[in-house]
Amino acid sequence: MARILLAGGAGYIGSHTAVELLNAGHDVIVVDNYSNSSPESLRRVEQITGKQIKQYEADIRNHEKLTAIFRENKIDAVIHFAGLKAVGESVQKPVSYYRNNIDTTLTLLEVMQECDVKKIIFSSSATVYGEENPVPYVETMKRGVCTNPYGWTKAMIEQILEDAAKANPSLSVILLRYFNPIGAHESGMIGEDPMGIPNNLMPYVTQVAVGKRECLTIFGNDYPTKDGTCLRDYIHVVDLAKGHVKAITYILDHCCNEIINLGTGTPYSVTEIVETFEAVNHIRVNHVYGERRAGDLPACYANADKAHTMLGWKTEKTLADMCRDSWNWQKNNPNGYNSKS
Ligand code: NAD
Ligand code: UDP
Repeated sequence: MARILLAGGAGYIGSHTAVELLNAGHDVIVVDNYSNSSPESLRRVEQITGKQIKQYEADIRNHEKLTAIFRENKIDAVIHFAGLKAVGESVQKPVSYYRNNIDTTLTLLEVMQECDVKKIIFSSSATVYGEENPVPYVETMKRGVCTNPYGWTKAMIEQILEDAAKANPSLSVILLRYFNPIGAHESGMIGEDPMGIPNNLMPYVTQVAVGKRECLTIFGNDYPTKDGTCLRDYIHVVDLAKGHVKAITYILDHCCNEIINLGTGTPYSVTEIVETFEAVNHIRVNHVYGERRAGDLPACYANADKAHTMLGWKTEKTLADMCRDSWNWQKNNPNGYNSKS
């Protein structure tokens, strides 16, 4: 069993990954500055698992603090979740996005080198395939032209990590390209807790269902798809988290430099998401069809074969599970982690 440091581990995907790593018997250390999360998520991870997490409140860009944390703990591998992730905000504040997302990565790499830690898994995104590549996306495709600064930070960080691994063959890197994570742990105790108006579809749907927002606008119904709305590869966050456990097992055993898609390979339309959510949860989601959102592609979904053959991982949860668990989290915690202690 290994000791894994989760950079940005208090967030949505990090907290679910912490549960699965602890359940698999690993030790978990979280470093987070809580810029988009709350330590409450980690308290709840401890409740769910009955295990403890060593936690540090620190900015990953703080070289001195990060070095002290690495020196205090014998780290076997790092999973790097830390980053700003709102696409629209990245267009308004590109410099903050480049500064935070690139600097966290560079600082982590420097400190890892100084402290002789040789394994890193990075949270990348399907957005790096850009609009040139045809779906389904396969890892062997070249990175495309991104449509926003957030996407460019992911593409640039991939390049940085690949170059670092090439220059130092004893450094192992896995770039995990996530598709659209939704859902929540089945306990309803942890989930996605966006600040302000949600940018993403599922938190918007759940906030309309719970009465916090009046109406969902479906962005565009004139796309060249089966019902005119965009197609995405929605993946249950618990399946995604289990993919990280498999990736940790792999990276601990191999010296590698790999890109791996984490998706289901099955696309669903926005209308299908809304209809499934309504049917599974017996609740109405007010919605209207509106204009297309700038930068949206008609379809984005994975070829998920490599994760299966290389990691022995495939998704187990259905779209109904995703809709049920998203709603279970939202209705138990209408104001996210501020709802109850
Ligand atoms: P999140 O915002 O919930 O988690 C990110 C965490 O990083 C937060 O807890 C935040 O406080 C922390 N953080 C940010 N900058 C930091 C810094 N400088 N120092 C320390 N901590 C810092 O996001 P998430 O949805 O859990 O996503 C995790 C990662 O996966 C991100 O890198 C994101 O870009 C990537 N990703 C997410 C999605 C998605 O749809 N959620 C899709 C593709 C990729
Ligand atoms: N979407 C929508 N209304 C919203 C938010 C999103 O119709 O309020 C659509 C969006 O156009 C896209 C899909 O839902 O087709 C998924 O969007 P999201 O922002 O969740 O993820 P993306 O795939 O853009 O990263």
